[in-house]
Amino acid sequence: MTLTVFVRTRNLVIANDQAFYQFDRTGRFLMKSQSGSAVRRGLDGRLIGSTIIRPFGYREYRQFSPYDKAIFYEEIDQVLRMASMQSIDEPQSNWIARAQAVTSSVDQTDHEAFYQTYQHVSILPPDQYRSLVVQIAEGCSYNRCAFCDFYQDRAFHVKNDRELFEHLTALRQFFGERLQDRFDVFLGDGNALVVETSRLLTMMQAIRDAFPELPEDLVFSTFMDTFHEKDKSLAELQTIVSAGLHNVYVGLETGLDALRLALKKPGKAEDARSAIALLKQSGFRLGVIVLVGVGGQRYAKEHREATIALLRMIDFDDRDMIYLSPFVNPQNQAYDAWISREGLDLWDSRTTYEELAVWKKTLHEAQVKAKVTLYSIEEHLY
Ligand code: SF4
Repeated sequence: MTLTVFVRTRNLVIANDQAFYQFDRTGRFLMKSQSGSAVRRGLDGRLIGSTIIRPFGYREYRQFSPYDKAIFYEEIDQVLRMASMQSIDEPQSNWIARAQAVTSSVDQTDHEAFYQTYQHVSILPPDQYRSLVVQIAEGCSYNRCAFCDFYQDRAFHVKNDRELFEHLTALRQFFGERLQDRFDVFLGDGNALVVETSRLLTMMQAIRDAFPELPEDLVFSTFMDTFHEKDKSLAELQTIVSAGLHNVYVGLETGLDALRLALKKPGKAEDARSAIALLKQSGFRLGVIVLVGVGGQRYAKEHREATIALLRMIDFDDRDMIYLSPFVNPQNQAYDAWISREGLDLWDSRTTYEELAVWKKTLHEAQVKAKVTLYSIEEHLY
């Protein structure tokens, strides 16, 4: 079988008539994609496979076991060996040799180094997987939403100067030359915009100072909840935007008050709307996340209608995003207790994706200006 080898500025691509294999500048495997399926490698060495379920169009995900990985890396070794035997130039040969040297052997060391550098990066918006994540804070300052299990393993903590310095030093060591392939910075964890303004600005400057090779017009992004924005004045938020924190991803989840209450999401829908409006007025590019399928059949119509009515009231522009996040049953006993008390159903993936199609259509008809896209938490891999 003939293979085509491309060397790009940042990666090596090997293609056969069925699949593309990508490797980064250090030789680490990044991803394989082929019609209807993909395999991606995280910075911690995990491999996640995904397959499109036809004819419905949703994806199913699975994490590779050590055995699956061993089999998969045999395939990768074979592809690299065959590519190396083809007629290739010197740069191509060097890239392939690098990939052959490291592909599966760095998994264990990457795993250990990753968890010495980071607390588990539990979730990121789908357009932030290529950012440099800096955990200026750990966890979520609220951490009680009944549908959320992202930060149950840690107490909320804002890093002090020494901790931030050590984290930035560890990041430099962990990424090494791969820092060149990170363009923006994502400030973790769950709602880092709660960090007091002057502290936040100092931390952003410390990140710029630690990584002078990152672009001068470096863009920062972060998550935020819908019940702490008012802790900051409009002028403070505008200062934060001017300092480079341009993108804020906000968990609205639902515009239905009854559902917000049941999910332990603080504040009514109107409070959430006005918090989002304040962020918009401050100049942030918004990413508003809503949960599709939460509460099952009983809440489906009311949740969709109330949430879309709320979204229509936000003065989005075409830089903003609405993320439709298919609900996945969390490892959170509060959610299980609620659905069992109320006798609610849990949708399967197919039903959730059918509902997602209805949301997309309704948002399109409502002419909401923001772009609408999928936010699958199962897909997340940093
Ligand atoms: S959904 Fe957001 S605000 Fe709620 S507990 Fe999770 S991270 Fe915190």
